[in-house]
Amino acid sequence: MFFELVPEQLQFVANHYMVRDSATPMQRADAFVYRRSQLVRAQKWGKSPLIAAFVCAEGVGPVLFKGWAEGGESYRCSEHGCGCGWVYEYLPGEPMGRPWPTALIQVTATTEDQTDNTYGALRPMIDKGPLGDVITRTGEEFIRLPNGGKIEVVTSKATSRLGQRVTFVPQDETGIWTETNSMVKVARTQRRGLAGMGGRAIETTNAWDPSENSVAQQTFLSRADDVARDFRQPPSDWRWTNLRDRRKILQFNYAGVPWSLANLASIEAEAGELSENDPAEAERFFGNRIVAGGGAWMPRGRWEGAWAGAVASESA
Ligand SMILES: [Zn+2]
Repeated sequence: MFFELVPEQLQFVANHYMVRDSATPMQRADAFVYRRSQLVRAQKWGKSPLIAAFVCAEGVGPVLFKGWAEGGESYRCSEHGCGCGWVYEYLPGEPMGRPWPTALIQVTATTEDQTDNTYGALRPMIDKGPLGDVITRTGEEFIRLPNGGKIEVVTSKATSRLGQRVTFVPQDETGIWTETNSMVKVARTQRRGLAGMGGRAIETTNAWDPSENSVAQQTFLSRADDVARDFRQPPSDWRWTNLRDRRKILQFNYAGVPWSLANLASIEAEAGELSENDPAEAERFFGNRIVAGGGAWMPRGRWEGAWAGAVASESA
């Protein structure tokens, strides 16, 4: 059984692991172009399985830079306790990978229900494939990794453990991480821990409510150039309230993910139902658009216009 990345996922993963030309084998996070990455996609796009795959790779896979290949080197799973038989022969000039000596991963979300989405996808991914050779037991609460490593699940309640010696932190639904629910502080604490270890993070989220100043919003608008931001937004002149436009928006959002495209009718039905009660939330969740909670935050197109202007002035 393989987890096969569709091109849209592959692009995000490849960007996250892009190595700097100046990288040296002693470096951890600093070997990479991006310290962390942000993925903004619609509900049902399939973020949870992707996060789970990241966790597997970061747990036991060759995710650290080991140096540039000269030719003839290879990565053999069998040398890392895995029986899958996978061998990769590096081409001259390619970056080589090595696993973390001791990985500590915190799957993080605002509520336990939310961490369950990722954790629920993660356990069978390990148990039902060759990863089970390397990671022999997946528990309800945490997963032990080789060499004293660990995958655990945390929310803001885990105050004493937060950010301690972490090597990788997937932060899920940062669009609802705010000051009010203490998640802004969680993000800050974890980033401090990551900086100490040379670890890295990914944020995955729906589009956010711009009146909430969420972690997702702050990340997206920050001036940091070592954060990869991947936010594929439908054209702003398609209107969510127009049913024909709405279908175009959904087709645009799920174009790259065949499993959702095949179920577009039910996604459309769910989006329609949510729209009756909370059109703004429906447009955020399924439209993948930044929309304020109670109706119009600013005239349509103004936000996109300002953003385009900011990009233009930066590159000028
Ligand atoms: Zn293997």
